[in-house]
Amino acid sequence: MIIYKGVKNKMEQENKMKTLKHIAERIYFHLTNSRKPLTIHTEGIFMDNVWENVKKKVLDGNVLTWYVMTPANYNYFKVFFNTKYSKKQLSKIMSKRYRWLLENKQHLELHIHFNKLMNITYQEQEKLIKESIEWFKKELGFKPKEFVSGWYAYNKETIKLLKKYNLKLIHQNKYKEKHDYNGVRK
Ligand SMILES: [Zn+2]
Repeated sequence: MIIYKGVKNKMEQENKMKTLKHIAERIYFHLTNSRKPLTIHTEGIFMDNVWENVKKKVLDGNVLTWYVMTPANYNYFKVFFNTKYSKKQLSKIMSKRYRWLLENKQHLELHIHFNKLMNITYQEQEKLIKESIEWFKKELGFKPKEFVSGWYAYNKETIKLLKKYNLKLIHQNKYKEKHDYNGVRK
């Protein structure tokens, strides 16, 4: 009985330590994260209410880096935002708004959404990456150097492709990040 009680106490103590360790880790995560620079994943910028929010953030001066999507991800915009714009219209709006960001000294890099489960082929991924880079060069006049994957979902094929296209993968928790549509959802 005494032995049993000892074991029980030890287990309780270990559990308490685990909980404390967990809380300490969470506090550490929030403290370090709050000091990281804020980056925005830009997806809904073609919508006027999101755009107003984006402009405000730029003028307030607390964002510098934007991981932006391109019309290459048109299907995503259709499903996620139910947009009625054509791909061409979307391209025109995005191009204009991204150029405004550049003129206002913001730094733009690439954001692509593949597929949450990553049941997407190498060829399908390559098509999205290639088209995005081409769009960047044509509309914005430069090639992105960094890449953030939507939902942070990627696989071995993605890694190969990023090497091929000379893009640096940005991992979750490297920056503090938000989506451009946060707070403007109806
Ligand atoms: Zn995203």
